[in-house]
Amino acid sequence: MTDLYPMLIQPRYVERIWGGHSLAERLGKPAPRDQPIGESWEVYEENGVVNGVHAGRTIGDLRAEMGRTLTGHVSPTDLFPLLIKLIDAQDWLSVQVHPDDRFAQEHEGQPYGKTECWYVIDTAPGATLTYGFTRDSSPDEYVELVAAGRLEEILRPLPVRPGDVVYIPAGTVHAIGAGIVVYELQQTSDITYRIYDWNRRDASGHTRALHVDNARQVLDYHRCTRGTVRPLHKPGAHRTMVIAGPYFCLEVIEAAAARALSTDESPVAVTALDQALVVHAGVSGEPVTLAPYSSLLIPAAAGTYLLEPAAPRAQTARALVAYVPISSAATRADLIGRGFADTDVDVFLAQFAPAADLGQAPGARAKGAARP
Ligand code: ZN
Repeated sequence: MTDLYPMLIQPRYVERIWGGHSLAERLGKPAPRDQPIGESWEVYEENGVVNGVHAGRTIGDLRAEMGRTLTGHVSPTDLFPLLIKLIDAQDWLSVQVHPDDRFAQEHEGQPYGKTECWYVIDTAPGATLTYGFTRDSSPDEYVELVAAGRLEEILRPLPVRPGDVVYIPAGTVHAIGAGIVVYELQQTSDITYRIYDWNRRDASGHTRALHVDNARQVLDYHRCTRGTVRPLHKPGAHRTMVIAGPYFCLEVIEAAAARALSTDESPVAVTALDQALVVHAGVSGEPVTLAPYSSLLIPAAAGTYLLEPAAPRAQTARALVAYVPISSAATRADLIGRGFADTDVDVFLAQFAPAADLGQAPGARAKGAARP
């Protein structure tokens, strides 16, 4: 069928006060040069398809027209579930937090909260992120520290290097640090509660709005002990599982001809890393060339796909491959089927547990329950 092919997606570039020119200069993307570009939205509901019979349609249009041919086990009536961005942080992003689905539905009238993750593409030497609190805190202490301009005292720095992966469940306070370029994969949501913006002003002298009180209601106040993700990898294997949360999975896959991969009933978003790739959907599909740091989408109904290096001698052509898991049980069974030990799979999956007791001091509920 001619409508099941790898659909190249037109990115959308977004100016940001903390952005720069790395997307053009480091990643080779045709980004505007006359303004600081912070984000390239690579895969998003409103992005258009560039090639083939669907050229000019947006992913949202195709979701409505193709239904489950595109979305597979995911409902085609909701927003396209994956949002992928490339982010160039020349300066620090705001310190922020995102709500979970429940809070987004009850307080924002939106279907999704936002859990997200980063694959670190490039960093300046010594680059760090802000990731979680250094110790247990509470809504009261948070309010005091913000009012006194001292929240930084409990923000936890996390040094990162290229290739690191960071998982940010809804509720985790975070900020991308200066000199970091990341691939970001997230739930399709734009709900960001900004807590602190480094007292920055834009070109017209305006500060950006803060949402300190909304943040108070959704923060995870537990001491954060997570670091960068420990991926699941077997020596010699061409697939490395890096994220397996409830909303999305992410793998780093080395392109190798003759290795068909299953779409597993999900739309599959492929982003090339340093080298160009050739991508086939299905076994006999027309091949499509994917430039470095560009993205395409494979409809779920294609069933299988193949990734090859575009240059025959490029041994290291790799892609970031994102999809929506059917269930955590299905993901677990898939990983065990690939030959990983049960215990290794369970330790890996435990890294993606949702944060508990959002908006409450640690132990608050337990203490309340102990009262007669
Ligand atoms: Zn964020």
